[in-house]
Amino acid sequence: MERLKTVHLLYIVCAFLPFSCLPKHDSNESLEKINLLPLYVLSSDKLEGRKSGSLQMEIAALYLQGVYSHIGLDTFKKAPNYFQDVFIGDSTSLGKNIVGFIRGTDSYLKDEYIVVSAHYDHLGVCKDENSISGGDSIYNGARDNAVGVNALIEIARHFAIKPPKRSVIFVCFTAEEIGYLGSDYFLSHLPVNYSQIAFDFNIDNVGYNNTSAITVLGMGKTTVDSILYNKCDELKLRVIANPNSELNLYERSDNVSFMKKGIPSITYCMGFDSIDSNIKKYYHSVHDNLSSLDLNYVRKYINSSVFVAERIANVEARPASFY
Ligand SMILES: [Zn+2]
Repeated sequence: MERLKTVHLLYIVCAFLPFSCLPKHDSNESLEKINLLPLYVLSSDKLEGRKSGSLQMEIAALYLQGVYSHIGLDTFKKAPNYFQDVFIGDSTSLGKNIVGFIRGTDSYLKDEYIVVSAHYDHLGVCKDENSISGGDSIYNGARDNAVGVNALIEIARHFAIKPPKRSVIFVCFTAEEIGYLGSDYFLSHLPVNYSQIAFDFNIDNVGYNNTSAITVLGMGKTTVDSILYNKCDELKLRVIANPNSELNLYERSDNVSFMKKGIPSITYCMGFDSIDSNIKKYYHSVHDNLSSLDLNYVRKYINSSVFVAERIANVEARPASFY
């Protein structure tokens, strides 16, 4: 049985290998150069909703390892293959965080690290007969959060060609959907000194209902607001700040693990004005799949994430929080 599982795993990884071969990100890129292959791979039915602890999550981890390696991200001694095994207690595995970094160019600021983070797990396969739609039982998690991981990869590709002043850690988290456990583990097992972590640029998504904007959870909580407003204005995107404040969405993604440790953090989302019926239709639903996405808008959103992250990684004054 175990051997069969391994053979099966290898077969599927081989099938995905061509997707690791992303071309390098041209620093003069246009929207058309945004590469959406990671979104296609991660949200495909073959990965069966990327549930933490599943075989399909192991395959997603191997795929992301291949992408990091192809981009040429550096590894930490504590995660020599980009993998950080995440455990509860001594033995219960929650899968792997995928961790790599790019060294900054400024002789002083390179000792500070910006973390770019996105969770790559989702909900797996739907067991509830009432929620299965037209025979589709897979929670593909295209919005939540294959798009976010794709954005992280585009930022990494851009920085690999044009490194910023600060160093940047890229981490894809496991086990967000079951309580931010991958990010919690990461914060307890940091690959650099705690004092060197300057900011967390977290990318996560519930969906979108406004394609002329991006939404940021955590506006007003850190010193990067003006960067966000100015850069998005240049890119002709409005910034929607903290919608549905009564739902406290700021504390419902991996950024909360950084916030709890006093590290400035925001979560960068596709544009939504409020959690309305358009969002609810796809949020944690079998309808959240690739075919229901406006890919032109996805490109715009990802492109904006690249340039906002770049500006934060280059700003002279270290970002601070107001909490
Ligand atoms: Zn999410």
